[in-house]
Amino acid sequence: MTSSPHQADLTWTDDGQPFSAAFGDVYFSRESGLEETRHVFLHHNALAERWASLASEDTFCIAETGFGTGLNFLCAWQLWDQCAPAGCRLHFVSTEKFPLGLTDLQRALALWPELQHWAAQLLAQYEDPAGGWQRFRFEDGRVTLTLLIGDLLETLPQLDASVDAWFLDGFAPAKNPDMWQPQLYQTMARLSAEHATVATFTSVGDVRRGSQAAGFAMQKVKGYGRKREMLAGRLQPRTASPWSPPWYDRPAPSRAERTALVIGAGLAGCSTAFALAQRGWAVTVIERHPGEAQEASGNPQGILYCKLSAHPTPLSRFVQASYAYCLRVLRQCLPMDGVSWDPCGILQLAADEKDETRLRAIAANGYPAAFLHWVDASEASELAGIRVDRSGLNFPGGGWVHPPALCRALLEHPNITLLTCHHAMRLQRDSGRRWTAFDSAGDTLASAAVAVVCAAADSLRFAQTAHLPLKAIRGQITHLPATETSQKLRTVLCAEGYVSPARGGEHHVGASFRFDRIDCEPSVEESRDNLNLLPSLSADFAEAVTAQSLDPAQLKARAALRCTTPDYLPVIGPVVNARAFSENYAVLRKDAARKLETPAPWLDGLYVNAAHGSRGLLSAPLSGELIAAWLEGEPLPLPRPVAEAVHPSRFLLRELIRGGKRN
Ligand code: SAM
Repeated sequence: MTSSPHQADLTWTDDGQPFSAAFGDVYFSRESGLEETRHVFLHHNALAERWASLASEDTFCIAETGFGTGLNFLCAWQLWDQCAPAGCRLHFVSTEKFPLGLTDLQRALALWPELQHWAAQLLAQYEDPAGGWQRFRFEDGRVTLTLLIGDLLETLPQLDASVDAWFLDGFAPAKNPDMWQPQLYQTMARLSAEHATVATFTSVGDVRRGSQAAGFAMQKVKGYGRKREMLAGRLQPRTASPWSPPWYDRPAPSRAERTALVIGAGLAGCSTAFALAQRGWAVTVIERHPGEAQEASGNPQGILYCKLSAHPTPLSRFVQASYAYCLRVLRQCLPMDGVSWDPCGILQLAADEKDETRLRAIAANGYPAAFLHWVDASEASELAGIRVDRSGLNFPGGGWVHPPALCRALLEHPNITLLTCHHAMRLQRDSGRRWTAFDSAGDTLASAAVAVVCAAADSLRFAQTAHLPLKAIRGQITHLPATETSQKLRTVLCAEGYVSPARGGEHHVGASFRFDRIDCEPSVEESRDNLNLLPSLSADFAEAVTAQSLDPAQLKARAALRCTTPDYLPVIGPVVNARAFSENYAVLRKDAARKLETPAPWLDGLYVNAAHGSRGLLSAPLSGELIAAWLEGEPLPLPRPVAEAVHPSRFLLRELIRGGKRN
């Protein structure tokens, strides 16, 4: 598991270079870090030549050990801009055990004025890293950086990627022997594409022998500057790949025709459409309502609530990676105008003693304060602008978003067409291998090579996704007219429920959870329950708003259906033929450890993105990236165990292995 992050402890030499006291080594050559990077990593992976011969829309993946100051990344990006044809996309995956804080990164990168154009873009998105997997997209998706924070011997084995070139960096083997292990070279070989290359600044014999044993042909070549030698190599043809479960293998990437149908224009659908459109796909979004974000994504204020566990469960890892990515998308797509979005911070207050113990354990995980930190009741009151009586976690980067504004911003991409007032009732793949959506009269709505069902619990309507154990949960929020005192609330308050700072003269409090009703009529009882949440969030706030003698029957309220699953994780990924799946893998009922080879019966080109529960605002943007990564054969933005934890086939598999239980 990825442990809590520890920021790099840098010192600066007299000539202004970053130095790691912990490792007793420099981050880059004092002579010229830039030229060394170009010689060792760019030249000896033959990147200029390989990139110049790419076809439009090709992707290329570099993976690096030790992100450090990002110098190698920026040099690669600069060269990519010079050599790669328009429409190509670079994926740069890097690992880092001790990420630099923002201030150190700014200082280190200021050493290279020539890279200023690229460094400024990285710095604009970079924060003191909170750990986990962090995805950054630059230049409208032409360049993607995925940073795996943690020890690479833990993180790299969880990567799902096909790497074309390796930058084997990291402090010198003598100073950092724990990193240069046979397990590293074996993982590199497993993650390599055919003909992958590798380059490293060191020529140490153990590195050469370790890489050779893992399947790379290695050569000593001329090193940079005063270094006599370095190593460069290439993956040898593989004899056999290790077994991997075929039910979670990647379906063949859909490269032939880059068109997609997305069913549903809520947050999941809009995010999926955006991720594909950024990759050059022509996307048609089909929506039954007259516009986007009319159901659960239509609440006036969605809360960016990063609900973590003290331990890195798949859900907690998913939520953390999603939160960081969502904030980056918001900064790029929406004005911070207090109407579309307000990063006003979120206070997660302890609901009771047990909850306080849990929240304290989270705070003790060593996260940077800019991500989360513990506050007592008086600090919380100071931040909130109104007295609160409980201590808890402060998430300074969190806040609220008007979800329809985000949906609209995502759909604005020129590659997306929105088809409203059309109700897709049936999906069919024709002999031309295209998916067509039909309405209830049997009329064709649209067709495309790929279809992504993003219709929450209504995804059950389609025969192909009817086997998914999706459940609708009704949730209601209640509008509260702001008063002079209540307007002092500056942050979102969360505990059992939440209340938001005023937007347009109204606060919103919520939300109810009801499995027993699937209508969307506002209920007086649920508004009363919502009002009853207020004193536990802030007695002063409750008093300020209820001084107006609020009558729950007169308050505006909005009810909608969220979609969830038995394990409360979403469903994001490729779809199989459920019956064929159960037949193909029936033997797992008797022998769950059986290493079957039978390929999964994919419904080619069919994907689903649903069941985000009440956290769709936070998780939708990264879910779009995950769908696009599956489709394009790109590095997955999440650790493989997390991608499997949200995989649509997990329920069918559990049914086989556990003899009927799906969760
Ligand atoms: N490539 C970097 C650049 O462009 O600035 C320089 C890399 S610096 C020489 C080595 C980096 O490897 C350090 O940032 C260090 O924290 C990281 N590192 C060392 N051991 C590691 C490990 N086991 N897992 C992940 N990162 C590690």
